[in-house]
Amino acid sequence: MNYRHAFHAGNFADVHKHALLARLVDYLKRKDKPFRVYDTHAGIGVYDLTADEAVRTGEFHQGIQRVLASDADQHPLLSDYLAIVRELNKQLELPSYPGSPYIVRQMLRRQDRLSAYELHPADFKTLASHFAGDVQVKTIELDGWLALGGHVPPKEKRGLVLIDPPFEAVDEFSRIVEQLSRAWQRWSSGIYAIWYPIKRRSVVEEFHRQLAQSGIANIVAAEFCRESDADEHRLVGSGLIVINPPYVFAQEAQTIMDILQPLLAISPNARGTIKTLAGERQ
Ligand code: SAM
Repeated sequence: MNYRHAFHAGNFADVHKHALLARLVDYLKRKDKPFRVYDTHAGIGVYDLTADEAVRTGEFHQGIQRVLASDADQHPLLSDYLAIVRELNKQLELPSYPGSPYIVRQMLRRQDRLSAYELHPADFKTLASHFAGDVQVKTIELDGWLALGGHVPPKEKRGLVLIDPPFEAVDEFSRIVEQLSRAWQRWSSGIYAIWYPIKRRSVVEEFHRQLAQSGIANIVAAEFCRESDADEHRLVGSGLIVINPPYVFAQEAQTIMDILQPLLAISPNARGTIKTLAGERQ
């Protein structure tokens, strides 16, 4: 386990993923009934952007820093997410960036719960320290794939699973399809959001094909590329698969990506696209 998210916190892919994540949580809040969010690969929760890791890559300069320098907060579809980022920076009085469990936690109501899993021992310690004593958050030092296999569905019967693995394993894309198919058999009404890197287009197309043929219904992919596809093995875009997307999601995600496009672009070919991979169950 070499991957440490501290090197990438607040980069363009985090902005894309977290802006859409906040919309999914917002949707769950439209009913009073409680819900649960599972964050299977949670990271440390809060990132110091003055730390050596963040400074060394400087990735946040082309991500959250550009967005915070704009008037994107004015847009209602981005306001919840950006208010959480700004509030964290104010509280810590340091350039900082919230990870997925922190963003979700800020959005929960009293009746809602978050289960956050992290396998790296040092990262788990940091994650647990942020939520110590918080009765609405359970932090668990466990393989997120085991959690997906054993902990869904939640007793609340409503909720969201965020799956955001480090893509260190060569078979990560096939593992996602396999694990998702099993989880979906047990909990087909849950919302699932899976982040993936866009490097080689052929790899992404094969992933989409496998998902489309998995038997899982109602799947969309929201992809934001900040430049054209490249032949080399480098990150050109950020993808989010959403299973059982709220009915407003595709339209909202397209609007969000259109707002982010001029802010996060590094080439005139930057674009956000929505693809339907599987329709609703008949
Ligand atoms: N979701 C986080 C966010 O958006 O702020 C970022 C997560 S980062 C991309 C992936 C994390 O998964 C790393 O912190 C890594 O240590 C952790 N990890 C790797 N393998 C894992 C596993 N099998 N189960 C749980 N966590 C794992």
